Amino acid sequence: MTDKKMSRRELLGTTLFFGAAASLGSSFLQACGGSGPTCTDTAGLSQGDVATRTANLYVDVSTDASKNCANCNFFRSSGDNVCGGCQVIKGPISPAGNCRLWAAKIRT
Ligand code: SF4
Repeated sequence: MTDKKMSRRELLGTTLFFGAAASLGSSFLQACGGSGPTCTDTAGLSQGDVATRTANLYVDVSTDASKNCANCNFFRSSGDNVCGGCQVIKGPISPAGNCRLWAAKIRT
C-alpha cells in the first residue's frame, strides 16, 4: 500500500479542478434546460399530500426532456425559473420537474 501525502500545491490543484468541474457541470445542465429551481420544500404540506407527491414519483428534474412539468397540462406557472404549482400534486413544483401523472398540455 502506498502512503503518499498530498502537497499543498497538489491539494490546491485538486480542489480547483473539482470546483471548476462542478461549476461547468451546473452550467451545462442549465444550458440544456436540464435544471430548474429547487422546489422540494414540503414543510407546509400534510402527510397525505407528501405521500401523494412521493407515490407519484415527483422529481425536480425530469429524466425525459420531452416530458416536464412546464409542458404538462396540470402545471400552473408562477413565472420563469421559479417554482409553480400543480393541480394534482400539492407543494412547490419545478417547471423542469416530472411525475408519473404527466399529461401533455392541451392547447386551446
Ligand atoms: S402532474 Fe406531475 S408532471 Fe404534471 S405538473 Fe404536476 S407534478 Fe408536474
